[in-house]
Amino acid sequence: MSNSYSFEVINIKGKAYIRTYGCQQNFADSEKICGILTLLGYTIVYNDDDVDLMIFNTCAIRENAKDRIFGNIGALKHKKLKNPKLRIVICGCLTQQRDIAEKVKKTFPFVDLILGTNQLNSLPELLAGLFNGSKHGVILSDEDEPIAENLPVVRDSKYKANISIMYGCDNYCTYCIVPYVRGRERSRSAAKIMEEVKSFYYEGCREFLLLGQNVNSYGKGTDVNFNRLINYIDNIPGDFIINFMTSHPKDLTKELIDTIADSKKISYRLHLPVQSGSDRILEAMNRGYTRREYLELINYAKSRIPGLSLTTDIIVGFPGEDYADFSETISLMKEARFDSAYTFIYSKRPGTKAAELPDYVSEEQKSIWFRELLSVQSKIGEAALNGYVGQTLRIFCTGKGRSDEKLLTGKSRNGFIVDFPGNDEKIGSFVNIKIIRALNWALIGEEIK
Ligand code: SF4
Repeated sequence: MSNSYSFEVINIKGKAYIRTYGCQQNFADSEKICGILTLLGYTIVYNDDDVDLMIFNTCAIRENAKDRIFGNIGALKHKKLKNPKLRIVICGCLTQQRDIAEKVKKTFPFVDLILGTNQLNSLPELLAGLFNGSKHGVILSDEDEPIAENLPVVRDSKYKANISIMYGCDNYCTYCIVPYVRGRERSRSAAKIMEEVKSFYYEGCREFLLLGQNVNSYGKGTDVNFNRLINYIDNIPGDFIINFMTSHPKDLTKELIDTIADSKKISYRLHLPVQSGSDRILEAMNRGYTRREYLELINYAKSRIPGLSLTTDIIVGFPGEDYADFSETISLMKEARFDSAYTFIYSKRPGTKAAELPDYVSEEQKSIWFRELLSVQSKIGEAALNGYVGQTLRIFCTGKGRSDEKLLTGKSRNGFIVDFPGNDEKIGSFVNIKIIRALNWALIGEEIK
């Protein structure tokens, strides 16, 4: 655990269970919650039976996720009845929305504390208050609250580290709730980020994921932009891989693509959410680029970065989308040839601009389009994976196989999962693997000695 954080130790003994919903940023926050609770004296457990503290770190991106989380919170009532000493904390993007926080407070009176997105540094004090009898507070973050630094972290993996480099987003894509719950863009200092990379590397970590809602606009208004930051990290001595997400096409520069191409350690996997292939829909989404600009950008990236793997996000059934728009998305998919795509049926988020737009397409129709999209993408993805059979890839091995526990697993520099036979001493090291077979989501290979 990295720890230069200090607070009055209240020395609570007990078991704590944390459930995390949503994106990598939430998982990174939960690693900090784990770090804080561990310093307080809690034992972190992975089963919610018979615990003293439960924390739900929630996500607000999709309406059905919200419904699921509400269902899960409701189910905690019987645990509280069984164990009145149990403390329940709900935090994260969902409860950063005041109306939802108030609804949680009203609907679930057995919840002890409701927090927003940037309250982690106050957690020890708030927990101390809970144990001294205070109850049912709602504490939300201000938009401009400074980033809390030096929080302790207990990482999920010894070999992989999530490093948040910025928080918030200024883009206001019309379908997205993030700017309302994570606030305006705020970047961490480059020096702090570098310090963290070096210290995690020293602890044995070899894969870093730089996180932010829009990493390309890191450092806005300062003299260290994302391009310089990633260049600095690439020049830290050692053998490791640098991943980053999420990139926004309107802020991804050719200069950054050149930096990736010329780097020693930056991943050759680029996750670049396109969302739609139709200019009309891209404009309605307020994405700030056109189909042509997107395709030009990825063609440049493919020409500069050998073995580039491109992945994306696509929304089907945005309000006002018709079959002609959807067909443009399919044609872009075929032209871009993404290695994989995270595809979603549009989910209305109250409070966003898109939620006010008329929507004429039925859910049933959207599901038909969605299945068509999946079928096109799965053929492209399978062809991409099969193209690696016979090639040798350098893999960073992180643990037991994903396809089979008897195998080991790792990822190539361009982000493909590769499983292979080997003994556990390979875990935590780089190995060269000849690919012998492709599954529809991963590659299987053998080590080249
Ligand atoms: S860039 Fe758009 S989709 Fe991404 S977090 Fe910001 S507002 Fe949401």
